[in-house]
Amino acid sequence: MLKILVVGGAGYIGSHMVKFLGRRGCSVTTLDNLSGGYQEAVLYGDFILGDVADRALLDTLFSRNRFDVVMHFASFIQVGESILHPFKYYQNNLSATLTLLEAMQAAGIDQFIFSSTAAIFGEPQQIPIDETHPQNPINPYGRSKWMVELMLQDLERAYGLRSVCLRYFNAAGADPEGQLGERHDPETHLIPLVLQVASGRRSHLSVFGQDYPTDDGTCIRDYIHVEDLCVAHWLALQSLVKGDPSQRYNLGNGQGFSVQQVINTVQEVTGRNIPVVYERRREGDPARLVADSRKIRQILGWAPQFIKLSQIIEHAWKWECQHLHPG
Ligand code: UDP
Repeated sequence: MLKILVVGGAGYIGSHMVKFLGRRGCSVTTLDNLSGGYQEAVLYGDFILGDVADRALLDTLFSRNRFDVVMHFASFIQVGESILHPFKYYQNNLSATLTLLEAMQAAGIDQFIFSSTAAIFGEPQQIPIDETHPQNPINPYGRSKWMVELMLQDLERAYGLRSVCLRYFNAAGADPEGQLGERHDPETHLIPLVLQVASGRRSHLSVFGQDYPTDDGTCIRDYIHVEDLCVAHWLALQSLVKGDPSQRYNLGNGQGFSVQQVINTVQEVTGRNIPVVYERRREGDPARLVADSRKIRQILGWAPQFIKLSQIIEHAWKWECQHLHPG
């Protein structure tokens, strides 16, 4: 039986992963400081309340448990905040990850799966974005993730620590069974915000920019279902355990949807009207971000299951209705 430590297992993607692993008979331990997560979202395994920057805690944890693999989901994710508060991002996303990796190395744990991001690429030079695209992040959030990726290359060379970096494009959707979903506070992501308008928790959606060089003038993003992200982690886990070398994969549907298409689909799925206020562009938003995920399809046999935007929105809507807006 595989023994996995999920750092950030109480958060949005981490909690789906804990359920996914638990369902497949893995022994799962979650380490989370609950700064952005919810303990009740951890449906399987042990839960340890603590910070990944706490070296003594990690040493104790690793001396008591022989983990095969560490999955690291715990990070701050708001680009705008990272520009205003870079220390916060370098502290948590970079320095705390370094502490985790040092503790792993000291304990002889040498397999790591890292949640990276499309933000490592910066302004796109070509679309879709594959793994050979230049990496030139333009904000502290993207840079903190890119620095970890670079560090991992050095750690493999020096210590044989093998890793898989998964660069998510726009993670979206919710547990198809309705037990888990996205619950950020404050919420900044498009799909949950549109659904909060649909459920009546918000009066309107602000659309950031209507003058982009796209068909309808709004930004295009590649929304990938959280369950498909879990499958990618699962395949990455199998490959590490079987001894494959480190890899870095871009993870998206390969399809782009505009902000306007998201709004239209939410209206269709929910039957509710979405009042919209058009505002100025948000700083640092490229017009179009779409992944080329052929590498992970070819090497690991990954294939996204929920490729329709309507399915992603249906699952997220189920969560919004059941858990956040009872009645
Ligand atoms: N967006 C928007 N209004 C909002 C939130 C987001 O128009 O209230 C747009 C944003 O400008 C971007 C897209 O929706 O073009 C996706 O944004 P999100 O923050 O969900 O993800 P990002 O692509 O920034 O990681």
